[in-house]
Amino acid sequence: MVSRVIPVDEFDLVIIGVTGDLALRKILPGLFHRFVVGQMPSGARIIGSARREMDRRGFESMVRECLENSEETAPPKPDMVENFLDCMVYVSMDATEEGEWSKLSTELRSDVVRAFCLSVSPALFEVIALRLNASGVANSDSRIIVEKPFGHDLAAAQSLNKSLLVAFEESQIYRIDHYLGKETVQNLMALRFANALWEPLWNSTHIDHVQITVAETVGVSGRGDYYDRSGAVRDMVQNHMLQLLCLTAMEPPAKFEPDAVRNEKVKVIAALEAVDEHDIVRGQYGARDGHDCYQSDVHNAASKTESFVAMKLRIGNWRWANTPFYLRTGKKLKARSSEVAIIFRDPPHMIFPKSIGRKSNSLVIRLQPDEGIELHNTIKEPGPGGFRLMNTSLDMTFASAVNEVAVPQDAYERLIMDVIRGDQTLFMRGDEVEAAWAWVDPVIARWEETDQSPEIYDPGSSGPEAALALMHREGRRWRDLG
Ligand code: NAP
Repeated sequence: MVSRVIPVDEFDLVIIGVTGDLALRKILPGLFHRFVVGQMPSGARIIGSARREMDRRGFESMVRECLENSEETAPPKPDMVENFLDCMVYVSMDATEEGEWSKLSTELRSDVVRAFCLSVSPALFEVIALRLNASGVANSDSRIIVEKPFGHDLAAAQSLNKSLLVAFEESQIYRIDHYLGKETVQNLMALRFANALWEPLWNSTHIDHVQITVAETVGVSGRGDYYDRSGAVRDMVQNHMLQLLCLTAMEPPAKFEPDAVRNEKVKVIAALEAVDEHDIVRGQYGARDGHDCYQSDVHNAASKTESFVAMKLRIGNWRWANTPFYLRTGKKLKARSSEVAIIFRDPPHMIFPKSIGRKSNSLVIRLQPDEGIELHNTIKEPGPGGFRLMNTSLDMTFASAVNEVAVPQDAYERLIMDVIRGDQTLFMRGDEVEAAWAWVDPVIARWEETDQSPEIYDPGSSGPEAALALMHREGRRWRDLG
């Protein structure tokens, strides 16, 4: 079975788990936004499914409520909502039960693309994929969409991939890492490969180091059970942060085509060197007075799971041999900020003393807040009275740069439409996921073997002291979280 890139005038999108948190908070509002801006073809149908019984009226009021409460879209216009509802149906079905699938098949049209989005617990991915195939509901043009986590370790990821491949070809499998659907993340590729300016500088001759930060102010609220079994490395580093690193570090692909791009990303992961234990800091938030503490948030007083991690990585290839990549991510930090910062080397011969105000150049690709790009330069401070330098930035916030025209509000709408178009560029291939686990597994295994405790950090701080020291000891410093 080979999935073709075919016109998308008509499709049936089945969301299994339509009553769940992800569907109601992200997927449906994202699709509605596409509908509002006129990018949903008239032949599109959305079939929502879950186990609970719901009549048409109940389904409609659930969808209305989710759109009205959405943080992703402006308050919806009632006539738009009604038109959107006209292309939706609800099917109550237990997707793990073989006999139930006929309820769904009667709702599907033949000769249109069918996409099945598994917005359910990862424990159900394997059985649903098999049922999809065995029931004949999926055909050779069908696509299956799965969300992270893709396994808990390498062995689990391999097992999941194997089950998906029993029922589908790799070209039909769309593994969503929603970071890849963010405009700025895609702009990393545009910036690097559509401009002649950067490529000559994009190597260890000119780049001193790279900092990749994903900082959150929130704790683990509502996801404690899942998070405590996962931790920052599994939840953020293995997927989102390694994806950002790959897009920053990869070689230019020969073509902007799914496998050309994904081949280059896999090469970066394969070139990652084993990380030295002195180059990793694990942290867990916990205020000294015992309030606002990770362990009470996850109801596990003995938890040693990390809510923060910082690490220094080395990519063993010619381009990056002398340029470390520093990653840090954590919860309950002092600001919400996600960015990739490229810190350039100083000029080889500096004619101005540092004392008159010069800083290294840096290029910051900002994912949130305010997606955009900043280029930090040094200029002469205007005015008489001596020659002083000052730092200033060229700042391009995307929303204002493009007058907010059709900027997708959330990654999911972009990614789901790519699934319908049959474009896998922004989705993770099976070998990519496995390569990332193969690199991450030994890091976690070492902690588990030594029963290492994370360093406690104050909620609202920049993370553990040791994370600051990780940079300071090499004469570098993290960018301020804001
Ligand atoms: P959730 O709130 O627990 O929703 C699960 C959905 O699955 C519900 O609609 C549930 O409805 C349905 N379901 C459960 N068993 C079913 C069955 N046997 N047959 C058919 N439907 C069934 O989960 P979620 O938070 O939306 O997460 C969904 C997926 O996205 C998970 O893989 C999660 O890891 C991933 N994810 C979620 C987020 C997020 O922000 N929520 C972020 C990243 C990744 P019924 O009980 O009525 O069947």
